Amino acid sequence: MIKRFIVVAFWVLSFNYFGFAQTMPEVDMNAFHEISSHDLLGYAAELSTEKYGGRLSGSPGYEMSARWVAGLLHEWGLKPGVGDTSYFQWFPNAWTDVLETGSVRILPVPGTDLKERVLKFPDDFFPGSNSATGNVAGEVVYVGFGISAPELGYDDYAGIDVKGKILLMETGVPYTANDPVLKKWEPYSYHRYKFQKAKDLGAAGLLYVGLVANPNTSYIEGFVNAHISEEVADELVRPVAKRPFVDLKKEIVKEMKPVSFSLNRIVEISARTRHYPDAMSCNVVGYIEGSDPLLKEEVIIIGAHLDGQGSPGALFPSTLDNASGVADLLGAAKALASSTIKPARSVMFLFFGGEECGLYGSIQYVNNPQWPKDKTLFMMNLDMVGNGKGFFLGGGLTHPDIYSHFEIANSKYIHRELRASEVRPSFGRPRTDGAVFEKGGYPVLSLWTTQSVKPVYYHHPKDDIDAVTPEIMEDAAKLLYLGILGAANDRN
Ligand SMILES: [Zn+2]
Repeated sequence: MIKRFIVVAFWVLSFNYFGFAQTMPEVDMNAFHEISSHDLLGYAAELSTEKYGGRLSGSPGYEMSARWVAGLLHEWGLKPGVGDTSYFQWFPNAWTDVLETGSVRILPVPGTDLKERVLKFPDDFFPGSNSATGNVAGEVVYVGFGISAPELGYDDYAGIDVKGKILLMETGVPYTANDPVLKKWEPYSYHRYKFQKAKDLGAAGLLYVGLVANPNTSYIEGFVNAHISEEVADELVRPVAKRPFVDLKKEIVKEMKPVSFSLNRIVEISARTRHYPDAMSCNVVGYIEGSDPLLKEEVIIIGAHLDGQGSPGALFPSTLDNASGVADLLGAAKALASSTIKPARSVMFLFFGGEECGLYGSIQYVNNPQWPKDKTLFMMNLDMVGNGKGFFLGGGLTHPDIYSHFEIANSKYIHRELRASEVRPSFGRPRTDGAVFEKGGYPVLSLWTTQSVKPVYYHHPKDDIDAVTPEIMEDAAKLLYLGILGAANDRN
């Protein structure tokens, strides 16, 4: 650490001495060095604790975490960003409290060697994050993607009766290319569509394939569901299909033809939940006012979602996704607020709620911007920036003038691998807060980490404080501090 300080100080001196300062932002090295991995890990650890309950948007635990973040912004002197009076931008956000782990039981088939199988949490199943309360049992029917799209000539439900059945269903759509045809499939890609369709056709329950907690689903009265692993799906499918479960999806995608059939097994799902349809959630918005009397009218927005997956069956600390991004933002906000070199333009820090429920918070902001859109230079989004050795700036090559500030900062001070890409148009549904801003017409860059050094437990209870590496978080915050300062003070 000390060694690096000397090297960095030398760089600054030599560059200033030779008059290259215009390509190098002036930097307050004290503020820079006060960004510490210790503090950042502390922020991530705080947000990961039981008292916030996994920060499920809409829940009291989430609101408590939002108040904790706002408290820090206030302490560091950031101004409230909502109507200049409040740090909180509120929006409706129904949520479901999963009160018990629940159970999934595959019943034996008499006269065969297919025995009873009681699934285990969290290895085999997760309770549905928006499951209704209840106990349902029924014959299992594989329904592929669970899509009925007559205008696309595709119907997973054609010729099969799912009334009273438990459906085994894939996520996603059978069309996999990212081109304009995918746009036609978009309405069918939503989990909410699939759940509602299944319910409308009279299904008793659903086993959704993929072991991820997912609040981005609908609570439907009487509709009980759970997530299961691919291995469990394979156990159910193989005796009947005589081939691996994963082959079914490949066949459907290849032929664009549904493969739906009964699995001749009875499954029982039980769940106990409580739904809160009228709950509210919020974004946390704070900003540092620019120091230049004219340029301060312009703003740079740095965003990260604060919400997590809650506690479906156990605490999902949601540390890498996305306490890490929040910690990075907090580190940069504190440094920028205390920096003796002030940003000429204003800098807004935006902590989103409702991301995991369907990007509610970013949609709320884009529909109700707290800064004029035409005075917003760009938005940078951080999601899962806390495990790895290098950085990637999505959209960096589309916005080289912005990217250059981060590239210079990295090559002079951070020394990590930094790569960038063009903005890639996506014809599918938006999946990040950054994509929502892009759709809203904002220039967007997305920062993430590359070359994971720890296993990634996506939407899993093991996404805890052990899933992040503090060193990369420190460097992410430093990269933000320097890059933002460069862009905020760019007078070209
Ligand atoms: Zn995320």
